[in-house]
Amino acid sequence: MSAPTTARGYGISDTKKYTDFSVQEFKLKTAGPHDVTLDIEFCGVCGSDVHTITGGWGPLSTDWVVPGHEIVGKVTHVGDEVKEFKVGQRVGVGAQVYACLECDRCKADNENYCPEQVDTYNAPFPDGVMAQGGYSSVIRTHDRFVFAIPEEIKSEEAGPLMCAGLTVYSPLKRNGTGPGKTVGIVGIGGLGHLAIQFAHAMGAKVIVFSHSANKKDDALKLGADEFVLSGEKDFAKPYFDKLDFILSAADVHNLPISDFLSMLKVEAKMVSVGLPDKEWEGLQPQIMASNASAIGTTHIGSKVECNEMLKLAAQKNVRPVIDQILPMSQAGKAIEGVKENHVRYRYVLKQDLA
Ligand SMILES: [Zn+2]
Ligand SMILES: [Zn+2]
Repeated sequence: MSAPTTARGYGISDTKKYTDFSVQEFKLKTAGPHDVTLDIEFCGVCGSDVHTITGGWGPLSTDWVVPGHEIVGKVTHVGDEVKEFKVGQRVGVGAQVYACLECDRCKADNENYCPEQVDTYNAPFPDGVMAQGGYSSVIRTHDRFVFAIPEEIKSEEAGPLMCAGLTVYSPLKRNGTGPGKTVGIVGIGGLGHLAIQFAHAMGAKVIVFSHSANKKDDALKLGADEFVLSGEKDFAKPYFDKLDFILSAADVHNLPISDFLSMLKVEAKMVSVGLPDKEWEGLQPQIMASNASAIGTTHIGSKVECNEMLKLAAQKNVRPVIDQILPMSQAGKAIEGVKENHVRYRYVLKQDLA
């Protein structure tokens, strides 16, 4: 069978009408020897989809954007050089679909920081074709950005691991999360609820900080050792000098950052994988002077990390909590639910274009 050249998807053309999805046909990137083509079965709804199509992260880079980068499906075509995958295999694709694979970063398994990296949607491939996301029938990408899904993980559950799972696993791993370490997780939504599970699965002591008292039971069930209400005065005091690392998944611009940093040990780091539309408040360099702490962010993860993450998820039963599985044609409803904070953890869209 030859590789398809087009696909159909649900896309947005106006950031002010971000729930008005239209179905259109679009062109797929030219099929290369390393490309894998898959029929999409499920796609998770990530906060990035909402930030992008509402214009929160800036204007759209093309006139019609299909979001979605938590993709799971079955391989329908592989290029001649693809050794890792075969037709019929169940695989996933996350938030990246291209890197040069030749620069020092790519060669050192940092392809997620390649200067030529291409996002899964709202960005052009080097051949000029716009990359379109997973609210669609078919996606094609280089085999470096395709991941085998362990048998233990259901297809609908694998979707959110492709972006949310990898996005939290990579900084946890790179900052030494493991036995004997105490890790703070800030925020319990789509990213945070996976971060709690992964930090616990990696063997760390996990302290969860949240504004919502009603998420305490969930946090403890997901593997938190302690739950702290971060809205309360002096919440940070009992944890002074106790944390080896903080991962913030809170998608807000007004975090009490200096309180969080005060809990870090000397030269420890806080990484935010929540990327709010607005600048952070109160980010003066002085707030890091008392413990030489550092603050930063990260960008998804590498293929090596993704495969490790999936293996750990399979072994330790780390799974996204899915609020609802909706048909893809109801993408607008899912987007509205995320935007208005009605979703607790994750919506997943099921294919209905076939
Ligand atoms: Zn995402
Ligand atoms: Zn590169």
